[in-house]
Amino acid sequence: KLSARLAAVSKYVPKDARLADIGSDHAYLPCYLAKNEGLPFAIAGEVAKGPFQSAEKNVLAEGLAGVISVRLGDGLEVIEQGEVDCITIAGMGGALIASILDNGKDKLASVKRLVLQPNISAISIRKWLIENNWELIGEEILEEDGKIYEILISERGDPHRPYKKNPDMELLLGPFLVQKQDQTFKKKWTAEMKNWLRIFEALEGAAHSSETNNKRQEIIAKIKLVEEALKIED
Ligand code: SAM
Repeated sequence: KLSARLAAVSKYVPKDARLADIGSDHAYLPCYLAKNEGLPFAIAGEVAKGPFQSAEKNVLAEGLAGVISVRLGDGLEVIEQGEVDCITIAGMGGALIASILDNGKDKLASVKRLVLQPNISAISIRKWLIENNWELIGEEILEEDGKIYEILISERGDPHRPYKKNPDMELLLGPFLVQKQDQTFKKKWTAEMKNWLRIFEALEGAAHSSETNNKRQEIIAKIKLVEEALKIED
């Protein structure tokens, strides 16, 4: 059975997709989709030997070797030109996910949908999507085992469309998530603000240099964005 996190990611993969799951680890996501949703083809990409072997083992054990091709390599380099139309990248930091996409731009020509699940720094992904003409079409936030995760779904289109009210705020918190204001969203950003305040107070105690001043200004700016976002009514 999939974790709630990966189950949420799986919902956004079209049933007839030709999928590449990058950083697939055990290949749980493509195995689940192939077994339960009739996914016709997937690549499970892994850069590390151990996870690669565990993916191979699971795919064989599930009898899915004809559907899922397990490949060892860095990021999108495991994909041949035109092979897939959907990419999932889950369970890593947002900056790493953005750099994987950036290093593999030439492999994105045939790709229609990206489903990305950053553990931290979703803002890095939102920025990359805008710079590369991908439109964010949906977002989800969920909590599992005391951790909060975001899922970003993107297709080609107008990259600026979702950012209408306050682009700085929406980039940081997510335009769809700000709009929806669910409990998990409020919990995440209330906790982030508390954390920033702690850092702010520690900086107050430290020697004042232009560097610590800048850090304090940055924190204040972020707190203002979050306060503004949380004021929006459901
Ligand atoms: N995607 C799975 C999930 O969400 O449960 C596994 C997440 S696991 C925490 C991250 C995996 O990404 C690791 O197995 C790691 O080896 C792999 N990884 C990290 N950088 C990668 C890269 N540049 N290319 C391919 N895989 C990568």
